[in-house]
Amino acid sequence: MDEEVLMACQECDALQRVPWVPAGKKVRCRGCGTTLYHHPRGGLDRPIALLLGALVLYVLANSFPLVTLDIGGASRETSLIGTAWALYNHDMKLLGILVFLTSLAVPGAILFSTLYVLMGLRLQRSLPGLRQMLALLSHIHPWEMADVFVISILVALVKMSGMAEVIIDAGLYALIGYILLGIAASASIDVFVLWRRLERIDHFLQGKLSFEAGK
Ligand SMILES: [Zn+2]
Repeated sequence: MDEEVLMACQECDALQRVPWVPAGKKVRCRGCGTTLYHHPRGGLDRPIALLLGALVLYVLANSFPLVTLDIGGASRETSLIGTAWALYNHDMKLLGILVFLTSLAVPGAILFSTLYVLMGLRLQRSLPGLRQMLALLSHIHPWEMADVFVISILVALVKMSGMAEVIIDAGLYALIGYILLGIAASASIDVFVLWRRLERIDHFLQGKLSFEAGK
């Protein structure tokens, strides 16, 4: 685990040998100073704990209404699934499907697959599909736009409050908590470090297999 590996800088493309650094340290590009990777503190336990918390809040955010709108005495609760379903049933099928995918299905799938990868690495097991999931997670950065999402929720609430009385429900608190935990989890994950952990597990398993084959 101590040997250096070749890595290309994402900013300036400079190929360089990077050392393995202890937790809490980061490695910068020799050419432009961009962070190549950082080794987060807290190992895998920290992101696993944060994502398990996020999972609970994700379930709660989808089980309770987000807001109740009171328009002229008529109150109406809205939820993520309810919004998607209402759009689907009101001749906006494509929009309904998009809302369902982007606000429910895809975030849920990303949450589950990230937990699957982290748990596999934590238990030092080469679980089926783990490598493919890690490759997928390396390319998408699920929490990168989360702050934009939170701001857009707040803007929508302010706009709606001009038209109707808006009562914030449990689902919205859970949704915001889920996003904040997701951001915190992603700050304690570095994909490069995850790949190195997977390599180590593969090396160990290969060594064990060749030892058993040679017996
Ligand atoms: Zn660079």
